[in-house]
Amino acid sequence: MNIHEYQAKALLAKFAVPLLKGGVAYTKDEAMDVARKLGGAITVVKSQIHAGGRGKGRFKDDPNGKGGVRIAKSVEEVGQHAASMLGHELVTKQTGPAGKTVKRLYIEEGCDIKRELYLSMLVDRSIGRVAIVASTEGGMDIETVAHDHPEKIVEQAIDPAAGFQAYEGRKIAFALGLSGKQVGAFVKMMGGLYKAFTELDCSLIEINPLVVTGAGDVIALDAKMNFDDNALERHKDLEALRDVDEEDPSETEAAKYALNYVKLDGQIGCMVNGAGLAMATMDIIKLYGAEPANFLDVGGGATKERVTAAFKIILKDPNVEGILVNIFGGIMRCDVIAEGVVAAAREVNLHVPLVVRLEGTNVELGKKILKESGLKITSAENLADAAEKIVTAVKEAS
Ligand code: ADP
Ligand code: MG
Repeated sequence: MNIHEYQAKALLAKFAVPLLKGGVAYTKDEAMDVARKLGGAITVVKSQIHAGGRGKGRFKDDPNGKGGVRIAKSVEEVGQHAASMLGHELVTKQTGPAGKTVKRLYIEEGCDIKRELYLSMLVDRSIGRVAIVASTEGGMDIETVAHDHPEKIVEQAIDPAAGFQAYEGRKIAFALGLSGKQVGAFVKMMGGLYKAFTELDCSLIEINPLVVTGAGDVIALDAKMNFDDNALERHKDLEALRDVDEEDPSETEAAKYALNYVKLDGQIGCMVNGAGLAMATMDIIKLYGAEPANFLDVGGGATKERVTAAFKIILKDPNVEGILVNIFGGIMRCDVIAEGVVAAAREVNLHVPLVVRLEGTNVELGKKILKESGLKITSAENLADAAEKIVTAVKEAS
């Protein structure tokens, strides 16, 4: 789960991470109120969407105008920026061409920035540990830095038994070129970040940029936090921070039925059980010259209701020109899948080709149910046969 910058900052403030003062605003008036309370000097108006690159982003209705993060020199100017941002679509490198509608703003004190650094904490799966990643090249696209200047990125893994150690923090502080009192402040902040990361079951905390101010203070100027969905059960209070406006409606719907669904850009909808088989199915669709419209793992114990829900979610995507169901009936029996597929196909009035490949427990019964349904369902013998049939069917139909 993702949250907004202002929410992440509110959480991090409790862990002694140094931040600037600010407040959230949903309207122009609220934005001006917050600016007034901040003292009305230099204020920054920041669009709150679940995507980075806001500073360099542009509004769809004003492509040559100012970005999603703007500096204002007066309360009135804050109001002007707020009015031109709220309700407008912001397009950034991470939003895709459709952009995201700005519905909330974060009004923050202006900062005298001397240096912009990069800092993040994430789960490095290759070593199975939480790791700190830092770079002197902050404020910009870290992927570009990693690609062009890998030597400018430092990584420090943290031993889960010992936890974060001050010497590890000092090592990074020196690599970032911090000196004097900044080192101690940085180490203290890292301790807070690690505590937040582990206590809140984060999968990522990214501070980009972490800045050194003219006065020599170290401050988190941006904050991104991602939480492990599997741990949300333990954090009911975090669930309240969810902003469904920012999530893909299909993915939200899928989560309700405990389906693992990720929307993609292709034309062949996939319904598969098991993440590995789902990946293999996506690969083989590509191999036969088409693109998957989604990743969808219906899981091991899917019921008829879940299969129906999965079907509806796939069909809601207007790009879907055909569906491939690829199920191995182990825990889930093939006849249950077949019944779900038939029920769903009837209910949604299936209008695109459907290829079903079943294998495993009760496979003959499953195939019989499909055949006797009277619906136009093509059975496939194996994975390659299935991919070939659905790709051909889609090409013929278009
Ligand atoms: P994004 O990463 O989405 O572009 P950031 O919060 O990192 O958004 O802001 C982009 C840039 O705007 C920062 O790199 C920084 O230069 C500037 N900025 C952000 N907040 C402030 C602030 N409070 N005062 C001054 N400049 C800021
Ligand atoms: Mg940023």
